[in-house]
This record gives sequence, structure tokens and C-alpha cells, in this order.
Amino acid sequence: MLRLVFLGTSGAMPTAARNLSGLSVRHGREHYLVDCGEGTQRQLIRYGAGFDVTAICFTHLHADHYVGAIGFVRTLSMLGRERPLDVYAPVPSLEFLERLLKGGTDPLSFEIRVREVEPGERVRRDGATLVPWATRHRIAPVGWVLAEDPRPGRFHPERAREAGVPEGELWGELQRGRPVTLGDGRVVVPEGIVDPPRRGRLLAVSGDTRPCPATVEAVRGVDLLVHEATFGDAEEARAVETTHSTAREAGRVAREAGVRRLVLTHLSSRYDTDAATLREQAAGEFPGEVVVAHDGMVVELGYPE
Ligand SMILES: [Zn+2]
Ligand SMILES: [Zn+2]
Repeated sequence: MLRLVFLGTSGAMPTAARNLSGLSVRHGREHYLVDCGEGTQRQLIRYGAGFDVTAICFTHLHADHYVGAIGFVRTLSMLGRERPLDVYAPVPSLEFLERLLKGGTDPLSFEIRVREVEPGERVRRDGATLVPWATRHRIAPVGWVLAEDPRPGRFHPERAREAGVPEGELWGELQRGRPVTLGDGRVVVPEGIVDPPRRGRLLAVSGDTRPCPATVEAVRGVDLLVHEATFGDAEEARAVETTHSTAREAGRVAREAGVRRLVLTHLSSRYDTDAATLREQAAGEFPGEVVVAHDGMVVELGYPE
């Protein structure tokens, strides 16, 4: 399963319809939160995304992206959480997050493990690697790529039978890419019986950023790109001034990077009820599927084939 629930899709200020930034990404045994703006814990409840978060990945430490984490960890503690919580954020953030999340009141019921990350670093998780890349914003920001581990190639039972491999445990070994030894001492290799491994799914989340070549490079060919689109064409100058992107610019990044699908988020309050305009402007650049996220939107990411 690779399932996204958009918990907050507003930029800088919340509106009646849109909460501040927060994205739930559920993948196998992992449940990531990408950013955790104010009110995120209530959004997790509201949309049934669950409190079993295994890691929070911050894109940067602007208040609209982190304030919600303070209350969320307190709630988890009140619920008696025991499992450690991993927190990743771009350098420099260690001291700040340590104080923010652990400081002050009663001790927490669980451990918070804060780790600063540098662009290009690889964070190993269960079934995937998280890779932050350097984006362009007012304070040290990163985007996050979730690269799922490759999947074993397709298994051809008829070829296994032809090669004289009896059904059972040995089939599993071949599927895992290992040679097997038969009863008569013959060794059968997986090549020809099992197709080469298939790449896993790729998801990228930009966080707040100007459009930049590093993003195009980092998100090349991903299955789904979640890119900020704070403004529309009319506010292009404002996008430059505040180091955000327009929907059209997000569309351009998606096209240049050859991504499969694009989701726009982090909308300025003036587009709160006019998502269609942003969609059209992005679609003017990007020929693939474009969607403007709304709070509670669920996206299931299937396998590429
Ligand atoms: Zn923001
Ligand atoms: Zn920001």
C-alpha cells in the first residue's frame, strides 16, 4: 500500500476549508507525516489517517509546517505511546526541534529521535529509502523523495517446472533471486525463470520552494509529484518575492522532470475556492494528470505497470 491523505493544503494561513500543511503517507508498515502544521492531529482524526505515525519528515521549519508537532507528540504521550518516533529535518534543526518537542512540561512516554539531514543523504526505512533534496526557499528547505525498494521480477511457474524445480520452497528461493540446488545436484539459476527486479514506486513532495533545477533532477520520472503552487499567474511577482511557486511553474517542473502525475498543494487563501484556475494554469504546461489537492483528499499510488 502507498496511500496519501492530504491533511492540510493551505499555504501560510488556514482557511475554513483548508488546514495548514500536513500530508500522511502510509507505506507498508510505515506511516510518515510530511510536515505537521497547526491542527494536523485533528485532521488525522477527521480523515481517519491514524495516529500510528512512525516518522515525521519536515521540509523546513516555517511555523505553518511544524507547529502542529508540539501538540501531536503530547497527545501521543497521553495515549501512552511507547514506540520511538523518528523526526527528520534539514540542517540546522536539531537543537530547535529537541527543545520544541521535548522541552518544557512533563516527560514524554516515548522517545523522539531527531535527525538532521543533508540533501542527498539516504534515510533507510522499512521497504523504502527517503532521500531529501535541496529546494529553494527562505530558510534551509528540502523536498523528500520516497523510493520504494525494488520488487522481485515476475515468476514463471511453467519455466520452473520445465527446469525440473519442484513446486514449494525452492520456488520461493528462485523468486528471491537465489540459485537453488536440486536433489540430483543440479544448480538452477533464477535467470530465465524469474524476470529482472522491477523498480518500486517513487513519490516526491517538494515542500515550499521556487521552481528549481535541483527539483527537476531529484524528481525525474517519479510516479507522483506533490508540488507547492501557492499562487497563480497573476501573482507571479509575489511568488518570486516570497520564494514560492506558481501553479504554472509547478507544471513546468513536472513536465521537465517527466513525472507521471502532479498534485498541487499549499494554496494561498485567495485560491481557496478557485482551485480550477490553478489546475488550468499547471495543465497548460504539464500534459499529464494534474489535480489540486483538497483537505481529506486520498491518493492511492499503484505500481507503474
Ligand atoms: Zn508554507
Ligand atoms: Zn515556508
